[in-house]
Amino acid sequence: MNVMLNPRRMLIGGELVESQSGEWLESVNPANEELIGKVPLGAAADVHRAVAAAESAAPAWDAAGVKERARHLRNLGQALTARAKEILAVEVADTGNTITKLSGDVAAAVEALEHFAGLGLEIKGETIPASPQNLHLTIRQPYGVVGRIAPFNHPIMFAAGGLAAPLMAGNTVVVKPPEQSPLSATILSELCAEVFPQGVVNIVTGYGADAGDALVRHPSVKRIAFIGSVPTGRAIQRAAAETGVKHVSLELGGKNPMIIFPDVDLDEAVNAAIGGMNFAWQGQSCGSTSRLLLHESLYEKFLDKLVARIAGLRIGDPASPASQMGPVNSKAHYERVLHYIEAGKADGAKLATGGKRPPGADFTRGYWIEPTVFANVTADMRIAREEIFGPVLSVLRWSSFDEAIAIANGTEYGLTASIWTRDIKQALRAAKAVNSGYIWINGFSAHYRGTPFGGLKNSGIGREEGLDDLLSYTETKAIHIML
Ligand code: NAP
Repeated sequence: MNVMLNPRRMLIGGELVESQSGEWLESVNPANEELIGKVPLGAAADVHRAVAAAESAAPAWDAAGVKERARHLRNLGQALTARAKEILAVEVADTGNTITKLSGDVAAAVEALEHFAGLGLEIKGETIPASPQNLHLTIRQPYGVVGRIAPFNHPIMFAAGGLAAPLMAGNTVVVKPPEQSPLSATILSELCAEVFPQGVVNIVTGYGADAGDALVRHPSVKRIAFIGSVPTGRAIQRAAAETGVKHVSLELGGKNPMIIFPDVDLDEAVNAAIGGMNFAWQGQSCGSTSRLLLHESLYEKFLDKLVARIAGLRIGDPASPASQMGPVNSKAHYERVLHYIEAGKADGAKLATGGKRPPGADFTRGYWIEPTVFANVTADMRIAREEIFGPVLSVLRWSSFDEAIAIANGTEYGLTASIWTRDIKQALRAAKAVNSGYIWINGFSAHYRGTPFGGLKNSGIGREEGLDDLLSYTETKAIHIML
């Protein structure tokens, strides 16, 4: 399906523009490797124009006040909803994510816009009785220009929904969308051009190492919000530190444990293990519970049921509502996932199902990998320690509570965790002991807006989706009034 073959444009200073170099970035459909569109190849020069536009727009946007800013956010929500079907078709073709699940992403972005639009009056300060005779108070004010950099797995949700908190706090924004799946960002550019005063939102498509790096290093960008991998997060911290003292929030990767205690309902827990892997996203979800920690008493029985179910997942055209899994996002990522499958075999894990391109004429082109389960994984193996970000589940065995916690905590990551038991004390002991920032007890995958999402350890710094997110786009100023 050639969804967007006409070249699209990005948004700088209220204008829909090509890149200054005149070069383009091509995007292919991961299901068949066909060219489906091209976007401007923005680079440092484009980012500098975008930041200048955002800087000029910032004072008026802040001065507009919370009600006016909220009105614009809600207008963007309505504009997104009006083009939701078109965006969905583009995203399915550009990402390979399955249509049934992906159809929630525009709605999630709209929900974020509405949520933060309603929180304007929470951007408040305090009065502090610091001396008996005077008045001491704090106010919160925006940073000015915020840089946001997004990954490939939820392009529109992160690009559009991610505008909500910084804009509501009174900042203007420059977004760098993912180069692998950049098409929906050009639709967002068109919508933002209609909805916002010029320069309030700017979107520069291009490569991370070029446009992304220029955004991080720009001296006028003091606040950077990044969603992506740990290595890039670390590179961004380094680059930011080289050019200024910056506030950087990082939503990074995970190698998330799901711990299954012996007292669970087996079928319910098998469902959770499958759901937690987000196969509809080919496992390409930061919160995927890609390490399954099974108690030894149910290991074999659980594994048999699990493998039978996963082997039966319907892999196919991501645009079909019947498909439960599509292709992984890009050629480079396909090769990376296959590399980890080979590492699993080489390290001695047992390939229980999957591990290769599915058979059949439908899968000869495109980045298809069968849903894959490795059994007999031990905590030292690469497939137990490193984030694969693909449809590969590693199953480990444990025998004591302490051993389960040690395995769960035995990686550099600490994003999510899922704990399955009917014993509430055991569940809470485990939740306190597991070093992850977002924990489900007898649940998986779901995000609950208003609660803070983010990682411990190398999974990140900062929290999104709750009030912390909004306030993280403000700086506090103390004012002392001598009475
Ligand atoms: P990535 O390779 O780290 O890229 C993320 C973004 O950073 C892309 O827009 C990328 O540009 C840009 N970038 C790359 N190098 C850069 C640099 N030197 N300076 C500035 N920007 C740079 O991650 P990904 O492969 O797109 O996404 C997968 C990762 O994201 C996984 O680790 C996943 O767990 C994580 N993730 C985390 C969360 C969360 O909320 N914690 C949510 C979703 C995903 P290009 O487009 O050129 O690559």
